[in-house]
Amino acid sequence: LTEALYCQVAIDTPLRRVFDYRLPEALATAQPGMRVQIPFGRRAAVGLILRVSQSTEVPAEKLRDAGPLLDATPLLGTSDLRLLEWAAGYYHHPVGEVMATALPKLLRTVRKRKARAAAVMPHDATPVTLRETPHALSAAQSAAVHALRAATSAAAGNFLLEGVTGSGKTEVYLQACADTLAQGGAVLVLCPEIGLTPQLLARFEQRFAAPIAALHSGLTDGARARVWQQAASGAARIVIGTRSAVFTPIPGLSLIIVDEEHDASYKQQDGGFRYSARDVALMRGRLQQIPVVLGSATPSFESLRNVQLGRLTPLRLPERAGSALPPKLALIDLRAQAVHKGFAAQTLAAMRAHLERGSQVLVFLNRRGYAPTLLCHACGWIAPCASCDARMTVHLRRGRLNCHHCGADSALPERCPRCGHEVHPLGAGTERVEETLAELFPDHPVERFDRDALRAPGELHAAIGRVHAGTARILIGTQMLAKGHHFPDVTLVVVLNADQSLFATDFRAAERLAQTIVQVAGRAGRADRQGEVLIQSQFPENPLLRTLLDEGYAGFAAGALQERAAAHWPPFARMALLRASDTTAAGAMRFLETARTLRAPPAGVVLQPPVPATMARRAGRHHAQMLVESPQRAALQGFLDDWTPRLAELPAPRSLRWALDVDPLDVF
Ligand SMILES: [Zn+2]
Ligand SMILES: [Zn+2]
Repeated sequence: LTEALYCQVAIDTPLRRVFDYRLPEALATAQPGMRVQIPFGRRAAVGLILRVSQSTEVPAEKLRDAGPLLDATPLLGTSDLRLLEWAAGYYHHPVGEVMATALPKLLRTVRKRKARAAAVMPHDATPVTLRETPHALSAAQSAAVHALRAATSAAAGNFLLEGVTGSGKTEVYLQACADTLAQGGAVLVLCPEIGLTPQLLARFEQRFAAPIAALHSGLTDGARARVWQQAASGAARIVIGTRSAVFTPIPGLSLIIVDEEHDASYKQQDGGFRYSARDVALMRGRLQQIPVVLGSATPSFESLRNVQLGRLTPLRLPERAGSALPPKLALIDLRAQAVHKGFAAQTLAAMRAHLERGSQVLVFLNRRGYAPTLLCHACGWIAPCASCDARMTVHLRRGRLNCHHCGADSALPERCPRCGHEVHPLGAGTERVEETLAELFPDHPVERFDRDALRAPGELHAAIGRVHAGTARILIGTQMLAKGHHFPDVTLVVVLNADQSLFATDFRAAERLAQTIVQVAGRAGRADRQGEVLIQSQFPENPLLRTLLDEGYAGFAAGALQERAAAHWPPFARMALLRASDTTAAGAMRFLETARTLRAPPAGVVLQPPVPATMARRAGRHHAQMLVESPQRAALQGFLDDWTPRLAELPAPRSLRWALDVDPLDVF
């Protein structure tokens, strides 16, 4: 065996390249996947070794010595490194920043003191035992578990577990995991937000007497590094985590589960590296030849299309577990009856009836704050955000105006700054609806679920506790309420305003609205009492709402997919969005105009003209964007391969920032 003389490392920098270093004799044991300290400019940095070799194209006088090694054994395996390099290639992002997403901060920081003993000591597989008896399965659940068992032993296959809310998807996950663990394998479970959905983690902890590594955004740097090492060492064979957990090395990984795969939080929406954890999970499954299960009651159109194309095998759980009946959905025409502070007379009557029967009622409104607008009736002044093309939201209880886009915060004025007349909150957010509900139903305590009401850790847990104990009778909240909570005594769900997204410009708005309605409706009537769902709208004849009510999510999705196909929108086309922002609108547009002329797109790839973003000014910066599209993924990727390096070399003022968003979720 010839000794390696050089190594190529990834370093956390926006430069789109890897860096060559000389390996001194003491570093003869260097292997790909180990970390090494290296001189970088005038500082020391932590690099991740991607390759070792006997030769380099870098002239000898430009090479510096690497060292010392920070790991005794590779921290990342061959397939983990391949996944990082695939992600850097597919998302056209510097591999060093991709590495920085994959490794906890403490593991890529140069330490003054000598690092603690080698980060990862490989374990023997510890047997995992069950704390509770698995639940009896329905025929559909049993078929799904069998399909997953067969796939795990054949080490292949991707699945879409499409289960209506309350159908017991989690039990399928648990039993598939038990099978995998019994064979000595490990499991990765991705979920959208652990803080908002503590149930999933709790169910796993309840079932398995084994360490579970839970990786989420609420961890301190120290805790994150510790939990990550638990996963990477094999000490925890169950790893549950949010988005970036998809890159965690897990010895013996044999099954990946992506719960609530339609959830937008799987896509990194800001910063530079805008990856989709769901799509990375599918690629990881392919590289490691292990099955991946995507689960949802309301699958994304991308996944439904992949079922049509045979890339995902559908597993369906069409019925609720036990004897629970699906909820009854009805549209309430806001134009046809008296409306009191946002509630139709018919809605109020239904709420009264359910509350008198001893049930709980859930009211959904996807808008937090007291009111979205502060208005002067005398002169028409509307409180604007000074840094965004947006209005300030009124937070009455705190006495503040707050911008939900940039966070700007100021005192709530009592008088119009322009003409001195009184100002009034216009419209309603959850805070105002809470006030209305307390007036209308003084005998039924109201619990508010949103980011303002439940700010501190533990507050969500306490609020859920009050719902389960029955002290809270009416729940009012945002999206937070749609995320998988189980409230067995809620028998009525009211969607206060379904119209917000009906006329949105984004082609995904309808898909999201349908998903939200179905998810929030799924909270109603799960045990022995059938649920009722009332959807208030000014446009009850809207075909989207009608199809959703008459044919359910599957029927709605089938129709909406045909529209997407006809319009050549994703998932029938591939897109990338070049986003730029600068201190002036002209600066952002100029960069995109120049970018557009860098290279003529080949046949089949269209480079649209640059346009200002829908909200052009945000946090004092001007945003613009340019869409690149193609019916073929390969054609789009081929163009981006050629175009992105040229973009990176484009001279631009320091004030300009740009990012390439491959498979963007928000296009308008
Ligand atoms: Zn005024
Ligand atoms: Zn703002």
